[in-house]
Amino acid sequence: MNAIVDLPKEAQSHVGKNIPIYKERGQREVFCGLTGIIWLHRKIQDAFFLVVGSRTCAHLIQSAAGVMIFAEPRFATAIIDDRDLAGIADAHDELDRVVKALLTRRPDIKMLFLVGSCPSEVIKLDLSRAAQRLNKEMINQCRILSYSGSGIETTFTQGEDACLASLISDTPKQAPEAEQNLLIVGCLPDIVEDQFQRIFNELGITNVSFFPPKSSKQVVEINSNTQYLLAQPFLAETARLIEERGAKRLSAPFPFGVEGTTAWLKAAAKAWNIDDGKFDQVTQVRIDRAKKSLARYLPALENKSISFFPDSQLEIPLARFLSKECGMKVLEIGTPYIHKQHLECEFDLLPENIRIVEGQDVEKQLDRCRSDKPDIVVCGLGLANPLESEGITTKWSIELVFSPVHGYEQAADLAELFARPLNRSLKLAA
Ligand code: SF4
Repeated sequence: MNAIVDLPKEAQSHVGKNIPIYKERGQREVFCGLTGIIWLHRKIQDAFFLVVGSRTCAHLIQSAAGVMIFAEPRFATAIIDDRDLAGIADAHDELDRVVKALLTRRPDIKMLFLVGSCPSEVIKLDLSRAAQRLNKEMINQCRILSYSGSGIETTFTQGEDACLASLISDTPKQAPEAEQNLLIVGCLPDIVEDQFQRIFNELGITNVSFFPPKSSKQVVEINSNTQYLLAQPFLAETARLIEERGAKRLSAPFPFGVEGTTAWLKAAAKAWNIDDGKFDQVTQVRIDRAKKSLARYLPALENKSISFFPDSQLEIPLARFLSKECGMKVLEIGTPYIHKQHLECEFDLLPENIRIVEGQDVEKQLDRCRSDKPDIVVCGLGLANPLESEGITTKWSIELVFSPVHGYEQAADLAELFARPLNRSLKLAA
């Protein structure tokens, strides 16, 4: 076997320093978009997510998020049962009944997302129509929106994209304000949002908002005077809808690691005509501190090889961080989808001699992985145990979405997420 077994003969395109992108289609091993509820419900603090799905969907949500015993939960599943599937009960009537009962019992819910699933798509239950109908009845009580978290042809971070896109569609169109404003797009933990807010304030960029907002009542400014920075690389549809309202994207690498964060902030500083002296004054202390913290993990990471299985869509920016700032050797970057415009700044920073594979044919990728023998593999939960049993060290990709990993203060934590399993394997081997 050679190192690139089972890849198509020709790369479909090349990016950055002549890096080939191959496309694969076949069996996939990814979570579905319902998974996004786990971090979205923490972010929009008065929202509720009602999955319209099967018992499988309910099990996924409960086991992935844990059952909240001490607090009123902010997600649930309306189970589509045999009567709905057989057409005996009118699924729309049943859904209306469940929603009204929920909102009567929980008047604190100010925004309700009806979340579609594979079963609701199979029986062609039109949740956008249900949301419109229920919105009319609940007009002063609750905003009702819908999106699909179905696992048919999607990956788990697309759940956030679909949710945020539905929020944009529901936001009234606004006339441009005189002052330009900056919008940060993508769920970030509160602590990270606060850190970025402080940096923007110190730079003198004051009209900044974060999307999604923490409260359903907060109206986010999106108009032709808006410039926006993506905080996550998996928000293709959200970005498209934001641009439809006249907002312009600031092209930048994603804020992972010290260099990624600096370049991301610099894009905003440039758009606001902030001079280099001021930028350095605000960022240099943070850069120095972040580099010092990061240095602790470099001995565990330098010259170690890594491969990514397609899962979170964070793969390309993470590979850039691990190769440029941590000295790792990236062998293969598997990623479910590539948005070339959103990732253009990342491609230029990737090392040569890697391959990028878009899509997945899991058996072929496993063959390549066994042939490459990377020191560590980033993959979904379903592949981690089998690979570990073959002696390959793994990192769960979903952990990278749950953990605070953006910005200067988190650069070392991000490196530690990869150093920890490598150290554990070393200890086990010893
Ligand atoms: Fe499974 Fe589809 Fe439900 Fe996700 S939405 S848990 S893939 S049935």
